[in-house]
Amino acid sequence: MKLTKTAKALLIGVAALALVAVVYAAVDATAPTAGVHSENTALGTTDNCSACPFAGTDQCPAAAADKAQATDKPYVDTDRCIGCGKCVKVAPDAFAIDRKTSKAYVKGGAPCASVAKGAKACPVGAVQQ
Ligand code: SF4
Repeated sequence: MKLTKTAKALLIGVAALALVAVVYAAVDATAPTAGVHSENTALGTTDNCSACPFAGTDQCPAAAADKAQATDKPYVDTDRCIGCGKCVKVAPDAFAIDRKTSKAYVKGGAPCASVAKGAKACPVGAVQQ
């Protein structure tokens, strides 16, 4: 069977589009979910932060945890937090849920006793004191 030049060009075009679609799907499957640092680290290491849209911004949960650790303040390990809200329920003066990340955080000036209550209630040990 002999193909015309137009048919050959059409076949090549369709093949090129299919290749682009396959490559795009592969890249998209490894893209981090916005605002979910734990999913980024699940891809390997925090080296994946380079692909995270929140890397280097004030919304980066890893940076917030690092900052809290550096100042010896209590903080919620967002890689562990499952967003169940138990800490907020038992100690609303110390904890809140971040709407963007659906993870808990320790409020500024949180009383130590309340942080301890929230830490005790946390089912995954995400509250670091
Ligand atoms: S109790 Fe623990 S897992 Fe649940 S929201 Fe609070 S910190 Fe996160």
